[in-house]
Amino acid sequence: MKIAVVNSGSSSLKFKLFEAKDALAHFVVENIGKADAKIIFAFREKKVAISKIVANHCEALKEIVELLKEYEILADFSHLDAIGHRVVHGGEAFVDATVIDDEAIKKIESLKHLDPLHNEANLEGILLALKMAPLVKQIAVFDTAFHSKMPKEAYLYALEAKYYENYGIRRYGFHGSSHSYLAKACANELQKDIRELNIITLHLGNGSSVCAVQGGVSIDTSMGFTPLEGVIMGTRCGDIDAGVVFYMQRELGLSVDETDEILNTRSGLFGLCGTNDVREISASGDANAKLALDMLSRSIKKYIGAYMALLGRVDAIVFGGGIGENSAILRKMIFENINFGILFDDDANEDSRKIISKADSKIDIMVIKTDEEQEIANECYKILES
Ligand code: AMP
Repeated sequence: MKIAVVNSGSSSLKFKLFEAKDALAHFVVENIGKADAKIIFAFREKKVAISKIVANHCEALKEIVELLKEYEILADFSHLDAIGHRVVHGGEAFVDATVIDDEAIKKIESLKHLDPLHNEANLEGILLALKMAPLVKQIAVFDTAFHSKMPKEAYLYALEAKYYENYGIRRYGFHGSSHSYLAKACANELQKDIRELNIITLHLGNGSSVCAVQGGVSIDTSMGFTPLEGVIMGTRCGDIDAGVVFYMQRELGLSVDETDEILNTRSGLFGLCGTNDVREISASGDANAKLALDMLSRSIKKYIGAYMALLGRVDAIVFGGGIGENSAILRKMIFENINFGILFDDDANEDSRKIISKADSKIDIMVIKTDEEQEIANECYKILES
């Protein structure tokens, strides 16, 4: 069975083709709508990068279709068994992967106000794929679904009930496909049943979140009503006293939109030291860069501590995402002065091995390359095989 997974971001489109659950080809179209747009694709041993202006997501998908034909990977989308779509926000309406029909589209549209930036791009991808392959089953896999089993005490904010009941204000959590993938891959690595494991998963990329996974189920996560909450991120401030927001508006005269832009796009690592790239930050001798890294490692350490306390017993801590997978410096900083029977293995960390704790560590620490598209494809296979 052949499945394609479409992951439309605000300015990027990722596309992966699977056959019999293995990835056949992988495309990334970056900087859509900008002068430095690029199509990168990997197929068998080949890796190709093409610099080309790609006006919008529709053009990006068309370019991919042409390349699939040109390289004789796939003659037509109608030859697919299903197309899986990453949809960031499923609200409370979607707690599982769902076959897309008119009703599902209406529901996804009705959730746009919760996450306009992401859901708009996701929906565009769905409508386009439907146009290209109207007879192929389209399946939506939601980032929020993995967190839908969190207990009430985890997902509610300490607000009057009406704000949740009438307006849906609660913690939803994000990066669900990544956390789910990391937890399953960790159980695989340990050769244990996931139902017996307590795992802390760290998805650390430009957007970052931490998740407490008990028996394969998310019981708490750091992102909240929006992806702004939680650990310090590339351009998002993460946890902040809500009073700061009122102060910025009342005393500095900033509008709601201006405050939103500041906290989401000009804060975090970028706000602290002028760049959100951890490679640059780590290599820089600048005092602000050092402070940014200290603050980042401290904020992640605090969540690990909190989730150790919540879970009661932790079997493994797993790093994934661009920063988690690649920054040995940050991983080392996070475990400095942590004891609790954790024995961090410096050499394994420097070598970026899969297990970076010593054999007699009470908690295994792992680095796993996350794969949201594989997780989405697995969800699609589950539906096709049911
Ligand atoms: P992601 O959003 O998961 O693609 O992660 C992107 C982020 O990963 C970038 O902004 C960098 O900060 C970080 N990153 C990528 N490669 C490295 C590396 N080799 N060392 C440290 N950080 C890296």
